[in-house]
Amino acid sequence: MNHHHQDEQLNWFTERSVLWPGQAQSLQIEQVLFSEKSKFQDILVFQSKTYGKVLVLDGVIQVTERDEFAYQEMIVHLPMFSHHCPERVLVIGGGDGGVIREVLKHDCVQEIVLCEIDSMVVDVCKTYLPQLSVGLDDPRVKIEYRDGAEYLRQHPHSFDVIITDSSDPVGPADVLFQRPFYESLHTALKPDGICCCQAESIWLHMDLIRPLLDTCRNIFASVSYAYTMIPTYPGGQIGFAICSKSVRDNIRQPLRKPDMTLLQTLKYYCPEIHQAAFVLPLFAKRELEDS
Ligand code: SAM
Repeated sequence: MNHHHQDEQLNWFTERSVLWPGQAQSLQIEQVLFSEKSKFQDILVFQSKTYGKVLVLDGVIQVTERDEFAYQEMIVHLPMFSHHCPERVLVIGGGDGGVIREVLKHDCVQEIVLCEIDSMVVDVCKTYLPQLSVGLDDPRVKIEYRDGAEYLRQHPHSFDVIITDSSDPVGPADVLFQRPFYESLHTALKPDGICCCQAESIWLHMDLIRPLLDTCRNIFASVSYAYTMIPTYPGGQIGFAICSKSVRDNIRQPLRKPDMTLLQTLKYYCPEIHQAAFVLPLFAKRELEDS
């Protein structure tokens, strides 16, 4: 191998995990900006060649500047536009701030609690990813550095919308995929509340999504899986479990629509894609809807 080739190989980040065996995505690194171990996880930020800055936790890509909007807009606006008037919102995980940025676009919002276990993620994103962390200093935002599952148990009947922007169920986010967590979500929501949880990929995690939705269906009045496409998550696709406390099965139809001002800030979400996001390819529909 010549030296030039060797250098090129060294400058690639490769994302391997037991959650996607036998495959890995790589991004070319231009410069490592931050790399440290927090109390909870390894945190890495690098400037990539083609995806802008990238945040990596425990070896797994969390956000890239180039495609983050496809995830943040959908995990937020699907539940927010399905609620008639979300005033109090809880975000679990999401220390990068991207979800908060989107929630703040809704004028009806009076208070947002961000419950993030790892303060170093927030600090690092404030420094290196201002495009994401832009809303974290808004007076409506209150940050709690705690385990999301524990916080939920202590705040019954408190929120209109809860968004779980978690990392994968290996490490600190494991509790966010367990049945007791979904029971606490139900209790922490107001009677007409809606929650939206990161629910992994139909290409890679059907064995995880199926029982997760079954659990949710045992707890909530209505449960659906919706998805977005995003090149830097494994499989290029990631989904959300959207659960509603009231008997309302038309969560697929937004109750409200973005006005012109809000629409101009969006790059992915629109009322048409809200409805389309729930339409699953047949192989997934058979596994996830006919239960
Ligand atoms: N959008 C990303 C994705 O799907 O890959 C997730 C981004 S976000 C940065 C995930 C955050 O959840 C991390 O910052 C992590 O520290 C936080 N987290 C993990 N477990 C948690 C827990 N039990 N309570 C609160 N936050 C948690």
